[in-house]
Amino acid sequence: MTSSDNAASSSPDPTVQPVPSAVVQQVDAADATLHNPHVAVLSIGSNLGNRLETLQGAVDALADTPGLRVKAVSPVYETQPWGVSEDTQGTYFNAVVIVRTTLPPSSLLERAQAVEEAYERVRELRWGPRTIDVDIVSYQGVVSTDPGLTLPHPRAHERAFVLVPWHDVEPEAEYPGRGRIVDLLPAVGDQGVQLRGDLELVVPL
Ligand code: ADP
Ligand code: MG
Repeated sequence: MTSSDNAASSSPDPTVQPVPSAVVQQVDAADATLHNPHVAVLSIGSNLGNRLETLQGAVDALADTPGLRVKAVSPVYETQPWGVSEDTQGTYFNAVVIVRTTLPPSSLLERAQAVEEAYERVRELRWGPRTIDVDIVSYQGVVSTDPGLTLPHPRAHERAFVLVPWHDVEPEAEYPGRGRIVDLLPAVGDQGVQLRGDLELVVPL
């Protein structure tokens, strides 16, 4: 689209007819099936506030995204904060969300960051406490070294709180460029990651 297209679509135009509801329904139906979607793996984590509620809110917000369907949500794991000395922060709840999406990676990141902002994530400290962190672990087989969006995620392959829940929902999954996650797990160990079988995230309908 050119900038003149943008200008045209944003200015009120009396000749533009309202979109008939039949067309809107058709668009919705097309969206429900998603043409040529890509599979992306997201990692979500929270260590402030009502952590389970926040994670569910993030899953719901992702599911509300046009051009995105939540395919699976992992069990919830409780994990020690990463990169800080113990006991200076509360533990995290972490989960992995598998999505199908027609959004390109950059738009998926924008959406992930909008979800973080909706929860007013605290960003003062690197690896500091956060209401919600949403990372793109992988996007189909896409490889990118862009620091703004590195794919696959440059550190997720060494994080048990990503690999363990991901393996739960996709036992055959591959980490792009690094092989099957089931083969990466032994090197990583469990890092004190604990299944919270008493908690559950729901896949929105
Ligand atoms: P981390 O998730 O590593 O603890 P942040 O969530 O604060 O750190 O992310 C910092 C920046 O990382 C974001 O502004 C984003 O642009 C960048 N980034 C690079 N690759 C990714 C990715 N795969 N998923 C999410 N953010 C990424
Ligand atoms: Mg992040």
